[in-house]
Amino acid sequence: MRLINGSVLLLRSGGKAQFGTGERNGFLVKGLTPAHIAILKWIFEKQNWYNSHLERRFPENKKEVAEILKVLSDGGLTAKHQVPDGDCACAFHLYGSDAPIKARKEALIGISGLGPLGISLSRKLVACGIKSLILRDHEQVKTRDLCVYSDEQLGAVRQDVAPLLLGVNKQLPNRSVTLEIAICSYLTNPTWAEACIKQGLPHLPIIKRETEIEVGPLFIPGRTCCLHCQHLAKRDVDPEWPQLAAQLTGTDPVMADTSLSEYATAFAVREILSYLAGLPVSLVGASWVFNPADPLPQVRQWLPHPQCGCVSC
Ligand SMILES: [Zn+2]
Repeated sequence: MRLINGSVLLLRSGGKAQFGTGERNGFLVKGLTPAHIAILKWIFEKQNWYNSHLERRFPENKKEVAEILKVLSDGGLTAKHQVPDGDCACAFHLYGSDAPIKARKEALIGISGLGPLGISLSRKLVACGIKSLILRDHEQVKTRDLCVYSDEQLGAVRQDVAPLLLGVNKQLPNRSVTLEIAICSYLTNPTWAEACIKQGLPHLPIIKRETEIEVGPLFIPGRTCCLHCQHLAKRDVDPEWPQLAAQLTGTDPVMADTSLSEYATAFAVREILSYLAGLPVSLVGASWVFNPADPLPQVRQWLPHPQCGCVSC
């Protein structure tokens, strides 16, 4: 067993110990004996241990050892495997088990669109332990992509060099896709959405516009609204929307603002990790719009449209 990186033990008077310093994760344990405290000190000094060693070190205190291990386990402070740095906060604040970390390792995520925003998103996913990515983009690396690609990669096909750039294997595991993500300009690619629906795959669009980035909504076939619902809702508000959408289809791709891309992709990654962990996701029936003028994103609600019929209500 090991302690989650960054676990904190603060001893208080009168047989009390405080674990953690944050409002969300900190907790207090009372009624500890000197034996309990000695065991705790040993564990926090070692950071990782075999339970058999712990029992050998404290042969007279089997009961106390079991009690302390339960406190740490119930508090979400222990894991069987190493939790990657940077994930520890999530791990012990919210989950308290190894399962979400395992889910990240087992996830297979498709990413279509490997411009600077797509690479920024992928990098963050990799940093959080998601290593199996299907990277798709037949465009060549252009001069304006050099903020993320290297000079030697200029002119190469983005999807050929992206695995090297991200340090992920080109060889993909033989398992089904967990989630598809597409980065598009102005509009979600309907062919991509249709293919995801046909395969029953959850899919997340990230849309770039001149001065904003819209993340979501997360489309889960049969459970949430679909892209067509969204299109119908936009048409309800603006009857000329189909005409505008047709014109936007052939428009040149948008270059997203770098700081905004970082902000929006960080939010997207947080949501993706929550989705993989089975935690509530803020992107179900909602998209979040980031723009440089506002410190916080604005939310747009999307419901299944009565004329679509994709979700049986
Ligand atoms: Zn629909």
